[in-house]
This record gives sequence, structure tokens and C-alpha cells, in this order.
Amino acid sequence: MTYEKETRRRRTFAIISHPDAGKTTLTEKLLLFSGAIQIAGAVKGRKASRHATSDWMEIEKQRGISVASSVMQMSYRDHVVNLLDTPGHKDFSEDTYRVLTAVDSALMVIDAANGVESQTRRLIEVCRQRDTPIITFVNKMDREVRDPLDILDEVERELKMPCCPITWPVGQGKSFGGIINMQTQSMTVFQAGSDKRPQDFEVIPLSEGDKLRARFGRAFDDALESMELAQGASAEWDHQAFLEGKLTPVFFGSGVNNFGVMEVLDAVVDMSPPPGKRTSRLIAKSGDVTETTIHPEDKAFSGVVFKVQANMDANHRDRIAFVRIASGKYMPGMKLKVQRTTKELRPTSVVTFMSQRREAVEEAFAGDIIGFTTHGGVQLGDTITDGANLQFTGLPFFAPEMFATVVLKNPLRTKQLQQGLMQLGEEGAIQVFKPDAGGNMLLGAVGQLQFEVVQHRLKTEYDAEVRLEPSQYTSARWISAETPDELRKFEIAYPLRMAHDAANALAYMCTSPYDVRLAQERFPKITFHPLREHA
Ligand code: GDP
Repeated sequence: MTYEKETRRRRTFAIISHPDAGKTTLTEKLLLFSGAIQIAGAVKGRKASRHATSDWMEIEKQRGISVASSVMQMSYRDHVVNLLDTPGHKDFSEDTYRVLTAVDSALMVIDAANGVESQTRRLIEVCRQRDTPIITFVNKMDREVRDPLDILDEVERELKMPCCPITWPVGQGKSFGGIINMQTQSMTVFQAGSDKRPQDFEVIPLSEGDKLRARFGRAFDDALESMELAQGASAEWDHQAFLEGKLTPVFFGSGVNNFGVMEVLDAVVDMSPPPGKRTSRLIAKSGDVTETTIHPEDKAFSGVVFKVQANMDANHRDRIAFVRIASGKYMPGMKLKVQRTTKELRPTSVVTFMSQRREAVEEAFAGDIIGFTTHGGVQLGDTITDGANLQFTGLPFFAPEMFATVVLKNPLRTKQLQQGLMQLGEEGAIQVFKPDAGGNMLLGAVGQLQFEVVQHRLKTEYDAEVRLEPSQYTSARWISAETPDELRKFEIAYPLRMAHDAANALAYMCTSPYDVRLAQERFPKITFHPLREHA
């Protein structure tokens, strides 16, 4: 019973946005209002480099900072809210996709002047694929921005789902008067200033229309009119549709002024779902695999490693594995097992993440994120249990879009290079391919910055200096076939194109966009996968 009560009061979500839309500001305010931090400005330090840069310091900062605060837990209105950070730079988008597999809902922040921007669009796609419920926050209403009806229209088009405005702005920019809360039928009056608390804002019921009209003039009447239009044109609130990822509630506000933020935090608690059930493979002793459903309140502990990150501390070469708990309860001293290797885990410390600090976990339930240090042996996508033979699927790896060949400068450092590549591959910092025909290792990335980070880390963490040379490959596809025989025939036909990745999955390396089509015509029974799910 307590398990059920505990999981029901958990909310695990991520903020998705385009750089500069206001994610950092909003994160900080959410932490501030939940009492998780005392001082405004405390999150600012974690701000990562937002713009394309090859400056090592920036990269280091980004990594270091994201270790410290990539998960933030706060309690709010008797709920436990877990906020997962998504890396800001587009070159690390793969990391972001994986973080999104660990949340139950997303908060989309858009800049009211810019609408839905490119990076948000990519993240939306991932949420859509998983039917993740999305709450929309339209930020920066204190600026000269676009018409709110226009913004709703764009959100509907981009998200391909109806919007349901919950708050509505009165004016904008210099004439921003506040927001009307459609549910409470009242207006919250805007006041600029970053030291305001939600309870400091004046609230006037809409029934006092004359008073509001006298105070806000035309802006108020215009707002009522456009609100009516919006209500007429948009969907009625339907909680079930939201939970199924088919409708998004929309809020307006100004993050930097703490305005409209509490409404969003309340929405996370009131609207977004607690941890749900997940499907998993159950592996019997005989090796037979069956599908099973894991419920968050199940007694047995299970979770998935969705992120592995090297510690910034150069004196400790350990890494932190982040586990999203799917079921059961974690307690200190519990025996844990990695399904893939069937090895027992004996983490020296298991931590939870409280905005600015890590703390030893006392207990953690489904929806929570725990982290433990590892010296290897744990990979992204690994399922951790207290004994059951479960394997969750669904952690995505995307076919890289750019490749480089690794050339070691000092051949005596081969062992270090191999260890470094293996670990960085396990961490998902980059994809590592070992050509079956031998020769230099290949690196595959989604963003250019990943190469620079890996080259830098090989040197500083593994003392292996490498040169990265252009590669003839432009893409890769993981391949499978119904029978080993068919796969074998394919391997024989393309011996120079075969490679194995860090998880030992077989891939076909392509040099042109036509490669896959031609190979497919020749071998119709081979399946080419642009995405690999950890199995
Ligand atoms: P991020 O890149 O999405 O994390 O964005 P930040 O939170 O760092 O915000 C980007 C810039 O927009 C910063 O200079 C913020 O101070 C500013 N900003 C954030 N929210 C608001 C807002 O509501 N109004 C105005 N005028 N500026 C804002």
C-alpha cells in the first residue's frame, strides 16, 4: 500500500526548449518555489555553453555542471517532483533523447516572440513517438511578442495536437497586465521583479469586470475577446487526452519575473501523470523470453540506466550511472544485479540528487532517479534489478550522421585507447565501431562537438592522444535477419563494410545514401535499422 501511495505522489518530467527560451530561468524558479533552493541565481552557475563553441573550458564546464545538477528533486504540495535536465547543445541531442525515455511528462517552454523553434521541434518528435504528455509554457510575455492566438495556432501545427489554454495573457510587453486563469475565472496582476513570490501577486475575480476595465483599459477587453476566440477554436480540457499525448494545456507567463510559474508547477502536480507501467522482457532460466508488464508499485526493484557520466573529479576515474526506478523501492545496502552480465553490483555509494547537492539515498521509489558510481561493467540501457531476470527495452541509439577514423599518436598507448573508447562508448558520449576487417577504430557522432569532446577526454582522462581523420563513411545501419544464414551471406558479400559497435551489435557502414537501397535490393531479407534499441 505504501508503495502505491509513494509512487502516486511522484512526478518525473523534463523541460524541453530551444536555447534561450528560458529553461534555466524557469528551472530555477521551480526550485525556488518548491523550497528546494533558497537563493535565486543558484542555478545560473550550471548554465552550459549555449552556442557552438570548441572551447575546452566550456565543454568541461558543461559536463561538470550537468553531472552536478542533471537531476533535481524537490518536494511540492506533498509530492515528490523529479526534474531531469536535458543537455542544451544540439550536438548532444542523443543524450537528450535518452533522458526523455526516463520521464513521464515534458514541459515545453517557448519564447513568445519566436514561437516553436528548430530544437524544440526535434524534441517534440521524440515526445510524440512515445506519446509523452506535454505541458506548454509560453514565456517572456513581458516583451513585445506575437499574438497569443497566433502562438496557439503554431503550437497546434507543430505538435500536431490541439491546445487547451488554461491561462490567457492580458496585453504584452509594456502593456502586459497579467494573466486570466480560465479555471478560477480570475486575473492575476503582473508586476515586474525577480524577487516576487507567487503569493505576492494580486488576484482579482473576473466578476469585477468594471474594476479590471478601469485598470487595464482596452487590453482587458481585447484579452477577453481573444480568449473567447481561443476557447471557441481550441479543445475543451480533456485530462485523458492529455495523458495520452493528444492535447496540450497552455500557460502564459514570464519566467524571469516569477510570473505564471506557480501555475505551471501546479499543473505538473495536478495534471501530469505519476510513474506508469512499463513493458519488459522476462527471461526465464531456460532462456525463454516472454513479455511482461512491470507496475510501479510492484514489490520487486527494477530500473534502467539511462545515462552514464564520467565524474569531473580527475582524481576519481569513476563514473556515475543514473537509474530511473521503474518499480519497487530502493533501500541502502540492497543487492543489485545487472541483467545483461548477471553480475552483482556493489555500489559503494548510492545517491539522490537534490538540486545543488548529492545525498545518500534513504529510500527511493518508482519515478525517482538514483545514481551510483561504477568503474565499468554498466552500460547505457542496462536493466538493474534486485534479482529478477528482466530486461527493459526502448533506450534509443541513433545511426550516426558523421564519422571519423581514430589514429593513435603514440602506438604504445593502444591499451589506454581501447579502454577509453570502450568506456566512452558505454557512456554514450560517442558511438564506437570496430571494423570486422581490422584497422583503425571508427567514431560515429550525431554532432561535431562530440568528436572534440572525445578527443579531449581521451587525452586528459586516458592519456591517449589521437588524431581524428576524415572517414569515407557517411552513415551506418544496424542489421538483422531472420536467420543467421542470411546474415552470414550478407557479411560475406560486404566484408569491408561490417563493423561491431560498443554493445557488440552488427552494423553496415555506408558511404552514400544509395548504399542501403542497393544492398536492400540485393538482400531483401536483411533489415536495416536506423535506430538501435538497447536489448
Ligand atoms: P535557456 O537557454 O533556455 O536556459 O534560457 P535562459 O533561462 O538562460 O534565458 C535566456 C535569456 O532570456 C536570459 O537572459 C533570461 O534572463 C531571459 N529571460 C528568461 N525568461 C524571461 C522572461 O520571462 N522575460 C524576459 N524579458 N526575459 C527572460
